[in-house]
Amino acid sequence: ADRLDLEGVSVADLTRDELLAHLHEVLERKTQLCLGFCNANMLLAALREPAYAAALRGFLLVSDGLGIDLCSALFRGRFFRENLNGTDLVPAFLAAETTPRTLYLLGARPGIAGAAARNLALAYPQHRVVGVRHGYFRPEEAGAVVAEINAAAPDILLVALGNPGQELFIAEHGARLDARLLMGVGALVDYTAG
Ligand code: UDP
Repeated sequence: ADRLDLEGVSVADLTRDELLAHLHEVLERKTQLCLGFCNANMLLAALREPAYAAALRGFLLVSDGLGIDLCSALFRGRFFRENLNGTDLVPAFLAAETTPRTLYLLGARPGIAGAAARNLALAYPQHRVVGVRHGYFRPEEAGAVVAEINAAAPDILLVALGNPGQELFIAEHGARLDARLLMGVGALVDYTAG
């Protein structure tokens, strides 16, 4: 199979180029995609916590790291064709994507997403960051956060709230978010801020 299926969690076996082409398609077709980079911790958390596994069912999950690669070897007799983590894949995607796109960065400590946005503007001048917000808000503020993101109208929403928070946020609010590509990106915002 072209995926690892474990207790209802399904991780696609895509190459980087296949994934980049798919993300481009999603943006062109104006459909919505939730993308998750599934490492061994995420997989274990999903196996332990049915609500997290259920949230991940709405995602395209790709394989991130050695732990999940070993799982793949054990349970389906082959390794994943490529390792795809957000910290490498998102910059590669922004570089490959020549069509101008708008982005919103949600997550990390106050001030970090703004610094990341300035670095993205320098690195990928064809794209535009239309909004940022730190990732320390109360559950009852989530509705206002969603409204703020929709008002900025990004094509792409990068969510850096850690696991499982980022995937749960995307699963819970995705239907009300107008962005087409929603990605849980972990430490990417910290990393991009430098
Ligand atoms: N983060 C956040 N809000 C939270 C928890 C985490 O914005 O409530 C951010 C954190 O500042 C960091 C990113 O999420 O930028 C990843 O956090 P962490 O390394 O704790 O996540 P994990 O290693 O669990 O993915």
